[in-house]
Amino acid sequence: MALCEQSLPYVRAISPYQPGKPITQLAREMGIAVDQIVKLASNENPLGMSPKARAAAEQAMADLSRYPDDFLLKQALAERTGIGMERIVLGNGSNDVLDLVARVFLAPGRTAVFAQYAFAVYPLATLSAGAEPIAVPARDYGHDLEAMRGAIRPDTRLVWIANPNNPTGSFAPYGQLKAFVESVPSDVVVVLDEAYNEYLSPGDRVDTTAWLADLPNLMITRTFSKIYGLAGLRVGYALTSAEIADLMNRVRQPFNCNNMALAAATAALDDHEFVARSYALNRAGMEQIVGGLKRIGCQHIPSHGNFVTFRVSEAALVNQSLLRHGVIVRPIAAYGMPEWLRVTIGTERENARFLEALGGSL
Ligand SMILES: *Cc1c(COP(=O)(O)O)cnc(C)c1O
Repeated sequence: MALCEQSLPYVRAISPYQPGKPITQLAREMGIAVDQIVKLASNENPLGMSPKARAAAEQAMADLSRYPDDFLLKQALAERTGIGMERIVLGNGSNDVLDLVARVFLAPGRTAVFAQYAFAVYPLATLSAGAEPIAVPARDYGHDLEAMRGAIRPDTRLVWIANPNNPTGSFAPYGQLKAFVESVPSDVVVVLDEAYNEYLSPGDRVDTTAWLADLPNLMITRTFSKIYGLAGLRVGYALTSAEIADLMNRVRQPFNCNNMALAAATAALDDHEFVARSYALNRAGMEQIVGGLKRIGCQHIPSHGNFVTFRVSEAALVNQSLLRHGVIVRPIAAYGMPEWLRVTIGTERENARFLEALGGSL
Protein backbone atom coordinates (compact mmCIF):
# COMPACT_ATOMS: atom_id res chain seq x y z
CA MET A 1 0.00 0.00 0.00
CA ALA A 2 1.21 3.51 -0.77
CA LEU A 3 3.03 5.23 2.06
CA CYS A 4 0.56 8.06 2.59
CA GLU A 5 -2.35 5.63 2.69
CA GLN A 6 -0.75 4.25 5.86
CA SER A 7 -1.34 7.61 7.53
CA LEU A 8 -4.24 8.02 9.94
CA PRO A 9 -7.47 8.31 7.94
CA TYR A 10 -8.80 11.02 10.24
CA VAL A 11 -5.70 13.09 9.52
CA ARG A 12 -6.20 12.68 5.76
CA ALA A 13 -9.80 13.91 6.20
CA ILE A 14 -8.72 17.28 7.63
CA SER A 15 -8.86 20.38 5.42
CA PRO A 16 -6.00 22.65 6.44
CA TYR A 17 -6.47 26.00 8.20
CA GLN A 18 -6.55 28.92 5.75
CA PRO A 19 -4.70 31.90 7.22
CA GLY A 20 -5.20 35.50 6.14
CA LYS A 21 -3.13 36.35 3.08
CA PRO A 22 0.25 37.76 4.12
CA ILE A 23 1.12 41.27 2.87
CA THR A 24 4.27 39.97 1.18
CA GLN A 25 2.26 37.39 -0.78
CA LEU A 26 -0.18 39.98 -2.14
CA ALA A 27 2.77 42.20 -3.03
CA ARG A 28 4.26 39.33 -5.09
CA GLU A 29 0.95 38.37 -6.70
CA MET A 30 -0.25 41.84 -7.69
CA GLY A 31 3.00 43.77 -7.93
CA ILE A 32 1.80 46.24 -5.28
CA ALA A 33 4.40 47.85 -2.98
CA VAL A 34 4.32 46.40 0.53
CA ASP A 35 3.75 49.84 2.09
CA GLN A 36 0.69 50.39 -0.12
CA ILE A 37 -1.05 47.30 1.23
CA VAL A 38 -3.54 47.35 4.08
CA LYS A 39 -3.98 44.01 5.85
CA LEU A 40 -7.19 43.73 7.85
CA ALA A 41 -7.48 39.96 7.65
CA SER A 42 -6.17 38.37 10.83
CA ASN A 43 -7.48 40.43 13.77
CA GLU A 44 -4.00 41.73 14.48
CA ASN A 45 -3.43 44.89 16.54
CA PRO A 46 -3.09 47.87 14.13
CA LEU A 47 -0.87 49.65 16.69
CA GLY A 48 1.69 46.86 16.49
CA MET A 49 3.16 45.63 19.75
CA SER A 50 3.44 47.36 23.11
CA PRO A 51 6.67 49.38 23.39
CA LYS A 52 7.35 47.77 26.77
CA ALA A 53 6.98 44.32 25.22
CA ARG A 54 9.33 45.28 22.40
CA ALA A 55 11.99 46.45 24.87
CA ALA A 56 11.65 43.24 26.88
CA ALA A 57 11.92 41.08 23.74
CA GLU A 58 15.04 42.94 22.66
CA GLN A 59 16.57 42.39 26.07
CA ALA A 60 15.72 38.68 25.94
CA MET A 61 17.77 38.41 22.73
CA ALA A 62 20.89 38.50 24.88
CA ASP A 63 20.05 35.15 26.43
CA LEU A 64 18.79 33.07 23.53
CA SER A 65 21.39 30.35 24.06
CA ARG A 66 19.53 29.35 27.26
CA TYR A 67 16.39 27.25 27.42
CA PRO A 68 13.36 29.29 28.51
CA ASP A 69 12.10 29.62 32.10
CA ASP A 70 8.36 30.28 32.16
CA PHE A 71 8.19 31.15 35.87
CA LEU A 72 7.89 34.93 35.62
CA LEU A 73 5.03 34.94 33.10
CA LYS A 74 3.12 32.33 35.08
CA GLN A 75 3.70 34.29 38.26
CA ALA A 76 2.49 37.51 36.63
CA LEU A 77 -0.61 35.75 35.26
CA ALA A 78 -1.31 34.20 38.67
CA GLU A 79 -1.12 37.63 40.27
CA ARG A 80 -3.33 39.18 37.62
CA THR A 81 -6.01 36.48 37.59
CA GLY A 82 -5.87 35.17 41.16
CA ILE A 83 -5.51 31.66 39.72
CA GLY A 84 -2.60 29.64 41.15
CA MET A 85 0.42 28.94 38.96
CA GLU A 86 -0.30 25.21 39.11
CA ARG A 87 -3.59 25.91 37.31
CA ILE A 88 -2.02 27.86 34.42
CA VAL A 89 -0.81 26.23 31.19
CA LEU A 90 1.15 28.36 28.73
CA GLY A 91 0.90 27.77 25.01
CA ASN A 92 2.68 28.65 21.79
CA GLY A 93 -0.32 30.85 21.07
CA SER A 94 -3.65 29.85 22.60
CA ASN A 95 -4.11 27.52 19.62
CA ASP A 96 -1.45 25.39 21.27
CA VAL A 97 -3.43 25.00 24.51
CA LEU A 98 -6.56 24.18 22.50
CA ASP A 99 -4.60 21.39 20.86
CA LEU A 100 -3.22 20.20 24.21
CA VAL A 101 -6.63 19.89 25.83
CA ALA A 102 -7.90 18.04 22.75
CA ARG A 103 -5.03 15.56 23.03
CA VAL A 104 -5.82 14.97 26.69
CA PHE A 105 -9.56 14.38 26.31
CA LEU A 106 -10.34 13.49 22.70
CA ALA A 107 -9.74 10.32 20.68
CA PRO A 108 -11.55 8.16 18.11
CA GLY A 109 -14.95 7.18 19.49
CA ARG A 110 -15.34 10.49 21.35
CA THR A 111 -17.12 13.67 20.29
CA ALA A 112 -16.73 17.41 20.82
CA VAL A 113 -19.56 19.94 20.61
CA PHE A 114 -19.31 23.48 19.22
CA ALA A 115 -21.47 25.96 17.34
CA GLN A 116 -21.86 26.39 13.61
CA TYR A 117 -19.62 29.36 12.59
CA ALA A 118 -17.36 28.74 15.60
CA PHE A 119 -13.60 29.30 15.40
CA ALA A 120 -11.98 27.04 12.75
CA VAL A 121 -9.45 25.63 15.20
CA TYR A 122 -12.16 23.72 17.13
CA PRO A 123 -12.97 21.28 14.31
CA LEU A 124 -9.23 21.08 13.50
CA ALA A 125 -8.20 20.20 17.06
CA THR A 126 -11.12 17.77 17.34
CA LEU A 127 -10.37 16.01 14.05
CA SER A 128 -6.64 15.81 14.61
CA ALA A 129 -7.29 13.92 17.85
CA GLY A 130 -9.46 11.49 15.86
CA ALA A 131 -12.67 12.60 17.57
CA GLU A 132 -15.93 13.49 15.86
CA PRO A 133 -17.08 17.14 15.70
CA ILE A 134 -20.72 17.93 16.46
CA ALA A 135 -21.49 21.38 15.00
CA VAL A 136 -24.73 22.78 16.40
CA PRO A 137 -26.75 25.15 14.16
CA ALA A 138 -26.28 28.77 15.19
CA ARG A 139 -29.06 31.14 16.20
CA ASP A 140 -28.70 34.65 14.70
CA TYR A 141 -25.04 33.78 13.93
CA GLY A 142 -24.40 33.22 17.65
CA HIS A 143 -24.24 30.22 19.95
CA ASP A 144 -27.55 28.46 20.54
CA LEU A 145 -26.63 27.40 24.06
CA GLU A 146 -29.79 25.39 24.64
CA ALA A 147 -29.25 23.41 21.44
CA MET A 148 -25.58 22.92 22.34
CA ARG A 149 -26.59 21.52 25.73
CA GLY A 150 -28.99 19.17 23.94
CA ALA A 151 -26.28 18.03 21.52
CA ILE A 152 -24.03 16.69 24.28
CA ARG A 153 -23.98 12.88 24.06
CA PRO A 154 -22.63 10.22 26.42
CA ASP A 155 -19.47 10.07 24.27
CA THR A 156 -18.98 13.87 24.34
CA ARG A 157 -15.85 14.80 26.26
CA LEU A 158 -15.38 18.44 25.34
CA VAL A 159 -17.38 21.57 24.46
CA TRP A 160 -15.69 24.46 22.63
CA ILE A 161 -17.12 27.93 23.00
CA ALA A 162 -15.62 31.28 22.02
CA ASN A 163 -16.99 34.42 23.66
CA PRO A 164 -16.92 36.73 21.75
CA ASN A 165 -16.93 34.34 18.80
CA ASN A 166 -14.73 34.63 15.72
CA PRO A 167 -15.66 35.11 12.82
CA THR A 168 -19.16 36.31 13.74
CA GLY A 169 -18.29 38.63 16.65
CA SER A 170 -21.33 37.36 18.53
CA PHE A 171 -21.41 37.50 22.32
CA ALA A 172 -23.27 35.23 24.73
CA PRO A 173 -24.45 37.19 27.80
CA TYR A 174 -22.66 35.94 30.91
CA GLY A 175 -25.84 34.97 32.78
CA GLN A 176 -26.79 32.55 30.00
CA LEU A 177 -23.24 31.38 29.54
CA LYS A 178 -22.73 30.58 33.20
CA ALA A 179 -26.04 28.69 33.37
CA PHE A 180 -24.92 26.75 30.30
CA VAL A 181 -21.52 25.84 31.74
CA GLU A 182 -23.21 24.73 34.98
CA SER A 183 -25.64 22.55 33.02
CA VAL A 184 -22.87 20.65 31.22
CA PRO A 185 -22.20 17.26 32.86
CA SER A 186 -19.25 17.54 35.24
CA ASP A 187 -17.29 14.89 33.31
CA VAL A 188 -17.29 16.98 30.12
CA VAL A 189 -14.67 19.74 29.74
CA VAL A 190 -15.92 23.19 28.69
CA VAL A 191 -13.28 25.29 26.93
CA LEU A 192 -14.27 28.96 27.09
CA ASP A 193 -12.06 30.76 24.58
CA GLU A 194 -11.73 34.45 25.52
CA ALA A 195 -9.28 35.61 22.85
CA TYR A 196 -11.22 38.90 22.51
CA ASN A 197 -12.03 39.38 26.21
CA GLU A 198 -10.02 42.59 26.52
CA TYR A 199 -12.07 44.23 23.72
CA LEU A 200 -15.33 43.90 25.67
CA SER A 201 -16.62 47.13 27.16
CA PRO A 202 -16.19 47.20 30.94
CA GLY A 203 -19.98 47.15 31.23
CA ASP A 204 -20.21 43.89 29.26
CA ARG A 205 -17.33 42.10 30.97
CA VAL A 206 -17.52 39.99 34.09
CA ASP A 207 -14.64 38.14 35.72
CA THR A 208 -15.15 34.63 34.39
CA THR A 209 -12.05 33.41 36.22
CA ALA A 210 -14.18 33.51 39.40
CA TRP A 211 -16.27 30.67 37.91
CA LEU A 212 -13.27 28.35 37.99
CA ALA A 213 -13.61 27.93 41.78
CA ASP A 214 -16.92 26.06 41.46
CA LEU A 215 -16.46 24.45 38.05
CA PRO A 216 -13.52 22.02 37.93
CA ASN A 217 -14.46 21.04 34.34
CA LEU A 218 -14.09 24.64 33.06
CA MET A 219 -11.08 25.93 31.14
CA ILE A 220 -10.64 29.58 30.15
CA THR A 221 -8.17 30.38 27.37
CA ARG A 222 -6.73 33.80 26.56
CA THR A 223 -4.06 35.12 24.23
CA PHE A 224 -1.38 37.76 23.77
CA SER A 225 -2.04 37.75 20.00
CA LYS A 226 -4.90 40.24 19.94
CA ILE A 227 -5.04 43.35 22.15
CA TYR A 228 -1.44 42.82 23.36
CA GLY A 229 -0.24 42.81 19.73
CA LEU A 230 2.07 39.78 19.97
CA ALA A 231 0.54 37.48 17.32
CA GLY A 232 3.94 36.81 15.76
CA LEU A 233 5.55 35.72 19.03
CA ARG A 234 2.86 33.12 19.79
CA VAL A 235 1.82 33.20 23.44
CA GLY A 236 -1.48 32.18 24.98
CA TYR A 237 -2.60 30.43 28.14
CA ALA A 238 -5.23 28.29 29.78
CA LEU A 239 -6.66 28.71 33.28
CA THR A 240 -8.23 25.54 34.63
CA SER A 241 -8.16 23.04 37.48
CA ALA A 242 -4.78 21.85 38.79
CA GLU A 243 -5.69 18.31 37.66
CA ILE A 244 -6.40 19.26 34.03
CA ALA A 245 -3.33 21.53 33.94
CA ASP A 246 -1.22 18.62 35.15
CA LEU A 247 -2.55 16.37 32.38
CA MET A 248 -1.90 19.02 29.73
CA ASN A 249 1.64 19.47 30.99
CA ARG A 250 2.29 15.78 30.34
CA VAL A 251 1.69 16.19 26.59
CA ARG A 252 3.01 19.75 26.32
CA GLN A 253 6.44 20.23 24.78
CA PRO A 254 8.69 21.24 27.68
CA PHE A 255 9.73 24.54 26.09
CA ASN A 256 6.68 25.48 24.02
CA CYS A 257 7.05 29.23 24.77
CA ASN A 258 10.35 30.80 23.77
CA ASN A 259 12.44 33.31 25.71
CA MET A 260 11.47 36.36 23.69
CA ALA A 261 7.80 35.49 23.79
CA LEU A 262 7.84 34.97 27.56
CA ALA A 263 9.68 38.23 28.19
CA ALA A 264 7.46 40.24 25.84
CA ALA A 265 4.23 38.79 27.22
CA THR A 266 5.26 39.47 30.82
CA ALA A 267 6.02 43.10 29.96
CA ALA A 268 2.87 43.48 27.82
CA LEU A 269 0.69 42.44 30.73
CA ASP A 270 1.82 45.56 32.60
CA ASP A 271 1.52 47.98 29.68
CA HIS A 272 -1.89 49.30 30.69
CA GLU A 273 -1.43 52.43 28.61
CA PHE A 274 -0.96 50.39 25.42
CA VAL A 275 -3.96 48.18 26.16
CA ALA A 276 -6.13 51.25 26.85
CA ARG A 277 -4.97 52.91 23.63
CA SER A 278 -5.66 49.72 21.64
CA TYR A 279 -9.11 49.44 23.18
CA ALA A 280 -9.98 53.06 22.40
CA LEU A 281 -8.71 52.78 18.82
CA ASN A 282 -10.85 49.68 18.33
CA ARG A 283 -13.97 51.39 19.66
CA ALA A 284 -13.52 54.38 17.36
CA GLY A 285 -12.60 52.17 14.40
CA MET A 286 -15.61 49.93 14.95
CA GLU A 287 -17.87 53.00 14.75
CA GLN A 288 -16.07 54.23 11.65
CA ILE A 289 -16.37 50.89 9.84
CA VAL A 290 -19.92 50.09 10.94
CA GLY A 291 -20.98 53.62 9.94
CA GLY A 292 -19.29 53.17 6.57
CA LEU A 293 -20.89 49.76 5.98
CA LYS A 294 -24.30 51.24 6.72
CA ARG A 295 -23.71 54.11 4.28
CA ILE A 296 -22.61 51.67 1.59
CA GLY A 297 -25.64 49.51 2.34
CA CYS A 298 -23.89 46.36 3.59
CA GLN A 299 -25.51 44.27 6.29
CA HIS A 300 -23.19 43.46 9.20
CA ILE A 301 -23.28 41.26 12.30
CA PRO A 302 -22.91 43.40 15.46
CA SER A 303 -19.46 42.52 16.79
CA HIS A 304 -17.91 42.50 20.26
CA GLY A 305 -14.37 41.85 18.97
CA ASN A 306 -11.77 43.76 16.93
CA PHE A 307 -13.36 42.78 13.60
CA VAL A 308 -16.73 42.87 11.90
CA THR A 309 -18.34 40.49 9.43
CA PHE A 310 -20.43 41.96 6.62
CA ARG A 311 -22.52 40.65 3.76
CA VAL A 312 -21.89 41.22 0.07
CA SER A 313 -23.68 39.37 -2.70
CA GLU A 314 -20.57 38.25 -4.61
CA ALA A 315 -18.08 37.94 -1.76
CA ALA A 316 -15.39 36.12 -3.77
CA LEU A 317 -15.47 38.76 -6.52
CA VAL A 318 -15.58 41.64 -4.05
CA ASN A 319 -12.63 40.09 -2.22
CA GLN A 320 -10.66 39.91 -5.49
CA SER A 321 -11.44 43.55 -6.18
CA LEU A 322 -10.37 44.58 -2.67
CA LEU A 323 -7.09 42.74 -3.22
CA ARG A 324 -6.53 44.66 -6.44
CA HIS A 325 -7.03 47.82 -4.37
CA GLY A 326 -4.34 46.53 -2.00
CA VAL A 327 -6.77 45.73 0.81
CA ILE A 328 -6.69 42.28 2.41
CA VAL A 329 -9.78 41.13 4.32
CA ARG A 330 -10.83 37.59 5.22
CA PRO A 331 -13.23 35.55 3.08
CA ILE A 332 -15.09 33.12 5.34
CA ALA A 333 -16.61 30.70 2.84
CA ALA A 334 -14.76 27.92 4.67
CA TYR A 335 -16.94 28.72 7.69
CA GLY A 336 -20.05 28.11 5.61
CA MET A 337 -20.53 31.87 5.12
CA PRO A 338 -19.83 32.29 1.38
CA GLU A 339 -21.66 35.64 1.15
CA TRP A 340 -19.71 37.27 3.96
CA LEU A 341 -16.32 38.88 4.46
CA ARG A 342 -14.62 39.65 7.79
CA VAL A 343 -12.65 42.86 8.23
CA THR A 344 -10.34 43.61 11.17
CA ILE A 345 -10.62 47.08 12.72
CA GLY A 346 -7.48 48.99 11.71
CA THR A 347 -6.20 52.52 12.18
CA GLU A 348 -8.43 55.38 11.04
CA ARG A 349 -6.46 55.60 7.78
CA GLU A 350 -6.62 51.85 7.14
CA ASN A 351 -10.35 51.78 7.85
CA ALA A 352 -10.87 54.65 5.41
CA ARG A 353 -8.83 52.85 2.73
CA PHE A 354 -10.95 49.74 3.26
CA LEU A 355 -14.26 51.61 3.02
CA GLU A 356 -13.16 53.47 -0.08
CA ALA A 357 -11.99 50.23 -1.74
CA LEU A 358 -15.21 48.48 -0.76
CA GLY A 359 -17.31 51.29 -2.17
CA GLY A 360 -15.41 50.92 -5.44
CA SER A 361 -15.78 47.13 -5.47
CA LEU A 362 -19.56 46.66 -5.25
C1 LIG B 1 -7.25 34.75 17.27
C2 LIG B 1 -7.97 33.73 18.08
C3 LIG B 1 -7.29 32.96 18.99
C4 LIG B 1 -5.83 33.21 19.27
O1 LIG B 1 -4.98 32.37 18.66
P1 LIG B 1 -3.45 32.42 19.08
O2 LIG B 1 -3.00 31.03 18.83
O3 LIG B 1 -3.39 32.77 20.53
O4 LIG B 1 -2.79 33.42 18.21
C5 LIG B 1 -7.98 32.02 19.73
N1 LIG B 1 -9.31 31.88 19.59
C6 LIG B 1 -10.00 32.63 18.75
C7 LIG B 1 -11.47 32.46 18.68
C8 LIG B 1 -9.36 33.56 17.95
O5 LIG B 1 -10.05 34.29 17.06
